[in-house]
Amino acid sequence: MLNALTVDLEDWYHVCGTTDNAEHDKWPEYESRVTRNTERVLALLRRYNSRATFFVLGYIAEKEPALIRAIRAEGHEIAIHGYYHQRLFELTRAAFEDDIKRSIEVVSAITNEPVLGYRAPEWSIRTDTLWALDVLRKHGIMYDSSMVPLTRMGERSFKRFPHEIKTPYGDIWEFPLTTLRVFQENLPFTGGLPLRIAPYWYIVSKIKRINATMNQPGLVYVHPWEFDAEQPRIELTLSRRFMHYFNVRSTEPKFEGLLRQLKFAPVKEILGLGA
Ligand SMILES: [Zn+2]
Repeated sequence: MLNALTVDLEDWYHVCGTTDNAEHDKWPEYESRVTRNTERVLALLRRYNSRATFFVLGYIAEKEPALIRAIRAEGHEIAIHGYYHQRLFELTRAAFEDDIKRSIEVVSAITNEPVLGYRAPEWSIRTDTLWALDVLRKHGIMYDSSMVPLTRMGERSFKRFPHEIKTPYGDIWEFPLTTLRVFQENLPFTGGLPLRIAPYWYIVSKIKRINATMNQPGLVYVHPWEFDAEQPRIELTLSRRFMHYFNVRSTEPKFEGLLRQLKFAPVKEILGLGA
């Protein structure tokens, strides 16, 4: 069974929920580490002959078009992660539409291909931002991967596996974050902080179990900055600091183990939207 492998392509300072550090007029002052960090991810993918979907920030694509071309040249899918990494509940529908249009324009001009996929910053499609799916489909996006079936983020009643959702512009696929059912709750474990906390054997065995018993693909996600233990630190609240930096050195060995033990593909291939 193929599982979905995804990379949210952003730099070390693209952190949601900061104070003034998050203002994008400050971003040009920060050191760019995204190309070097992404190269570490690409080298691992090459070593294990794995291909992934890269959800690219429009801001990064505009600054580093050669990086986007290099990723595409290695057979990975290029999708979008918004332009300025703003969570949807902080945007109006009109502002979101502008952000999406700009992201698609920048990325498709680099790849000369239509953009099919989207992931919201910090998984921010919730019950109050479901209008985003209409906007995405209107602009040709065929799948979204932003809905988490969790109580603290997203919405606990969201479906746990890929499914189609109707919009006025046609159906759109949703590939949610993979979770486990544990004591009536859904538990994330396949990316970000949950991947850094969970023991490796637990992650790999639970993905294999979802494949075997539910006949469903899992979804793994990483960020290039999680491969960079020496990154500068953004000023954050205590809980945000924990979320962002805890056990960051464990990402690379866990990711490498998953590449060795599981079979992966870009999201659009798993959903049958083209090779
Ligand atoms: Zn992000």
